[in-house]
Amino acid sequence: MQQPIKIICPHCNQPSDSMRRSQVWLLVFVVIGYWMQRSTITGCSACLRQKIVSNGLINILTANVFWPFLILPMSLYQYYRTYQEGHDETVLAEAIAISKISYNSKLGKL
Ligand SMILES: [Zn+2]
Repeated sequence: MQQPIKIICPHCNQPSDSMRRSQVWLLVFVVIGYWMQRSTITGCSACLRQKIVSNGLINILTANVFWPFLILPMSLYQYYRTYQEGHDETVLAEAIAISKISYNSKLGKL
């Protein structure tokens, strides 16, 4: 049986067999307008859950009336995704590409 590929989490530096990537929003809503910042976070499931929860809690204050309709459902979906096993395909592809570059540079092929 083949061992799962482990990737080092950039947040906790622990090897993980389920590296995920997720986008979180910071929405600031005031009566006359709004401002939004999107961030992409890559990490192991535990780190991603922590970021999703902290981001969701911050948005309670900043997104106020939009929080239950926009931020909460999105955060619940992203939180659910952290329980799926395996790496995100994009994260795995990047890790393989980086390891190939690193391997080739050690051999002097670059
Ligand atoms: Zn982590």
